[in-house]
Amino acid sequence: MNTAKIALAFIFVLTLSLCAKETSALTSSSLTDVKIQSVLTEAYNKFKDDDSGKNADYIKALAEVNPKIFAITLVTPDGKIYEIGDTKELVSIQSISKVFTASLLLQERGDKFLQEKVGVNATGLAFNSVIAIELHGRTASNPFVNAGAIESTSWIKAKNSADRWYSIKQNMNDFAGRKLPFNEKVYISEVHDNKSNQAIAKLLDANNLMGSDPLEATTVYTKQCSVNISSHDLAVMGSSLANHGVNPISKKRVLDSKYVPKLLAVMATAGLYDNAGDWLYATGTPAKSGVGGGILAVVPGKLAIGVVSPPLDKYGNSVRGQEAAAYIINRLGLNPMAQ
Ligand code: GLN
Repeated sequence: MNTAKIALAFIFVLTLSLCAKETSALTSSSLTDVKIQSVLTEAYNKFKDDDSGKNADYIKALAEVNPKIFAITLVTPDGKIYEIGDTKELVSIQSISKVFTASLLLQERGDKFLQEKVGVNATGLAFNSVIAIELHGRTASNPFVNAGAIESTSWIKAKNSADRWYSIKQNMNDFAGRKLPFNEKVYISEVHDNKSNQAIAKLLDANNLMGSDPLEATTVYTKQCSVNISSHDLAVMGSSLANHGVNPISKKRVLDSKYVPKLLAVMATAGLYDNAGDWLYATGTPAKSGVGGGILAVVPGKLAIGVVSPPLDKYGNSVRGQEAAAYIINRLGLNPMAQ
C-alpha cells in the first residue's frame, strides 16, 4: 500500500469512529442549547413512566408528597438554564442540605478540620446507621451521613442555636440565589420523630466531637432538612460548585475556589451513601441525594443537574433522579473520568 492509500484508510477509520461516538454520546465541544434541551427531553420521556421506588415514609409527611412529581433542571457555569417537567414543584431538601452546611464548615474552619474532625470516608452503611459510628471508632466518617451532618451543623460558628440556624439558612439562600421557603409540615413531622438522630448526636458528644449541645444541633439539622427546593433551585445551588464557588446567576461567591474540589470529592465518595460506588461507576460525577426525592449531580467545570422525583430506592436515593441524571451526563459525553 502506498502512503496515499494508508492516509485515506486512516481518515476513513477516524470518520467511522467519530460517527459512532456521535450516536452514543455528544462531544462536549458540540454542546449547543438545542442539544442540551433535546437530551433533557429524551431523559424526561424515557423515565417519566417509571413508577418504581417508594416515597420515604419514616418521616410521615414525606409519604404524602405526590410521587408523580418529576422535574429536571440543568444549569451551566455561564448561567444558562435548561429544564423540563414540574420544575416549580417544591419538596424538602433533606440530605442535600448537608452539602451546603459542609461548604459553610469548610469556609469557616478549613479543609483539615473537615477531614480530621468529621471525616471524608465512606461508611459503607446506611445514612442513618448507628453501628457505622461504633465501627469507625465512634466517629461520623463523613459530613453526608446523618452523624457527620449533625456534627458539622454543631461546628458552624454562632452565638446560639437561632444564630446557627440563621447562618445555615442564609448560606443555602446564597447558593440558591433566593430566599428558600421552609416546609413547616415536614419539620413538625420530623422533629417529633428524630430520636435516633438525637441518639447519634449524643454518641458523638460522648466522644467529644460536638461543637455545640447535641440536641440543639439535631434541631438545627432537622430545620435545614426541612427547607423546600425545586429542581430549578437544586441545579442553581449546584451550579456554584460547577463554577469554582461563584453562583453564576447572582455572581456572588459562595465558597472559596480552593474548597470546591474538597467538597466535590466527598460528594463523590459518600453523596449517595452505600450506593455511591455504583453511582460513580455509572457517571463519574459527584452527587448528593435527599430522602425528599431530590438529587444534585455536578460535572465539575461544566454543569449541574437537579432532579426531583420522590420515589426512592432501598438506599434512599431517588429512582428517576438517578436514572435521568445518569442518562444526561452520559448522553452529553460528560463523565469526568472519560475526559
Ligand atoms: N432528615 C433526614 C434524616 O435525618 C435526612 C435523610 C436523608 O435525606 N437521607 O433522616
